[in-house]
Parts: sequence; structure tokens; C-alpha cells
Amino acid sequence: RLEEALQVARQPAVTRDGVEVHVAANVGSVTDAEAAAAHGADLAGLVRTEFLFLERDSAPSVDEQETSYRAVVEALDGRRAVVRTLDVGGDKPLPYVAQPAELNPFLGVRGLRLALARPELLRDQLRALCRVAVDHPVSIMFPMVSQVDEVLAARRILDDVLREERVVGGGHGDTDGARSLPGLEVGMMIEVPSAALKAASFAPYVDFFSIGTNDLTQYALAAERGNDALASLADPLDPGVLQLVSAVCRAVSGSDVRVAVCGEIASDPVAAPLLLGLGVDELSVGPYAVPEVKQAVRELDLGECRELAGRALAAVSASSVRALRSP
Ligand code: PEP
Ligand code: MG
Repeated sequence: RLEEALQVARQPAVTRDGVEVHVAANVGSVTDAEAAAAHGADLAGLVRTEFLFLERDSAPSVDEQETSYRAVVEALDGRRAVVRTLDVGGDKPLPYVAQPAELNPFLGVRGLRLALARPELLRDQLRALCRVAVDHPVSIMFPMVSQVDEVLAARRILDDVLREERVVGGGHGDTDGARSLPGLEVGMMIEVPSAALKAASFAPYVDFFSIGTNDLTQYALAAERGNDALASLADPLDPGVLQLVSAVCRAVSGSDVRVAVCGEIASDPVAAPLLLGLGVDELSVGPYAVPEVKQAVRELDLGECRELAGRALAAVSASSVRALRSP
């Protein structure tokens, strides 16, 4: 029976009105990647790479990173891996990266900010990823972006690495030994409210956005994530957060820039119809939640989801959004 259920999970998730929704998995280890494949994830929508960098005295070498990423990607068995570059900072300090203490580490030098401050770290990581991307479908995703210039700077480092690795994007390898890298895509997370509002400015430089509702919610509501005293305040279904998600989707609707949600909320059964109704194309959830989320998508009608999303945007609170679906 389990095998039958997993068989169903491996089928695409298509809404009642015929729209296929990609249901992806968030993974942070080879075990997660194996679970993602077994549970029918269409891709790994967020590969967190922090596991390789934390709790050690020096940065992992390019070779070591390549070996680790390859193991994760191979466990996905041909599915695309959206690999996020290092997302650490003041709240998760690295012994080999000297950083001044910060009063508000969540507002500090973290994510892509840290990577651009220490470009050799980013360069090594991109080099390892490019080597894996020669053999497998890999997307690179930058975290904690607030400025277009940050994306451009990161892309320039990626371009340098591609040149040094003698890899050419698209089509066939050229004649002087360059290897072809046809499937490499580049995207960014939307976790900062201003980035959500500026999505149209970022769109020309990315293949996709992935909305990190965990951080987007903490920044939009000024409520620290993980602070139990604020848990009821920091609901990603707050209409203010939904308006930011809507702004991102509207900014790229009709273009080929895709929008995913990879925060915890993506696996909330109440949230899926709202997110899809707002225009989100992909939900990325814990590997074990994939079958359930796929089944929920199959029961939805996108037209009804849009109508529901419209009412959610006008609601006064997260609890009234959550009450919308009750009969
Ligand atoms: C997020 O912020 O929603 C997210 C998916 O990233 P992380 O939880 O790793 O910060
Ligand atoms: Mg985040």
C-alpha cells in the first residue's frame, strides 16, 4: 500500500482545471534528497548548503564541496536541484569568517551580503556547483538579497568562474575543450520585503524567484522568527505578507520568470490554494510532505483559488484569512 501511495506521489500534480503545479522538496542532506526522490518530489526546490560549512574550523575545499553536492544531486535521480549558496551570518557564525558582533544579526551581514564580503567563499562554492552542473540539472540560488547590485555582483563572480572552468552555457561544447552547461539556471530568494516590492527590477537577471516566507514574514511583521512570544503575530498568512507574495507574482506574470515558495507555509494545507491563487507556480516543502501537498493540489480548481486569494488580500488578519476556507 505504501508503494502504491508513493507511485501516485510520483505522478504530476495537476489541478482539476488542468494546470500542473511543481511540488518540490527542501533538502539539507543526502538522506533528505533520497526521501525527496522516494516521495515523488518533482525537483529539490531548495538545497540548503549550510550543513557543509557549520561546525568546522576551516572552509570546505572546492573538491570536498563538489563531492557533497554531487552526492545530493545524484540521490535526486535526474531531478533538478536548486542549490542555495551559503546562507549564514551573525546568528550562525563561522569560526573561519571573522565577523564583528552584531546587535541584530538577522539585520546584519548574512546570506549573500556575507558571500559578497568574502567572495573567495562564494567563488569556491560556485566552482564546485558548476562542476556538478556539467553532469546534472542544477540551479543556483542566492539568499537574502535586497539590492539588484548584489545579484549583478554575484552573477559577475559566477561568470568569472564559468570562464575559468572553461564551461559554456547552452548548446554544445565549443571546439577548444570547453564543456557545455546547458541546464544551469540562476535565481534568487525573496526574503526581504523591499525585494518583493522591487521584483520587476530583479526579473531581467534571474530565471526564477523563490519566496522564503520564513524570513519574509519575520521582516514584514518585525517579529523575530523562532521567538515563541511572537508566534501568533508572525503568521505567513498575514494579509501583509500575502500582499508581498502577490506583488512578486504580478511583477513577473506573463513572463517566463517562475515563482516558487519554499518557506514552511508552503506545506500548510490552508496556504496552498492561497499561494497558487496569488500566482505561485511551485511549492517546495519538506520531503515527507510532498505526497500530501500533491494530493491537495489535485483537488484544487485554480479559478476558485484566485477568487479565494482575492478575498485573502483584503482580509484584516491572518486568522480571518485562515477562516476563509471554512464553510
Ligand atoms: C525562508 O527564509 O523562508 C527559507 C526557506 O530559508 P531559511 O528557512 O533557510 O532561512
Ligand atoms: Mg531564509
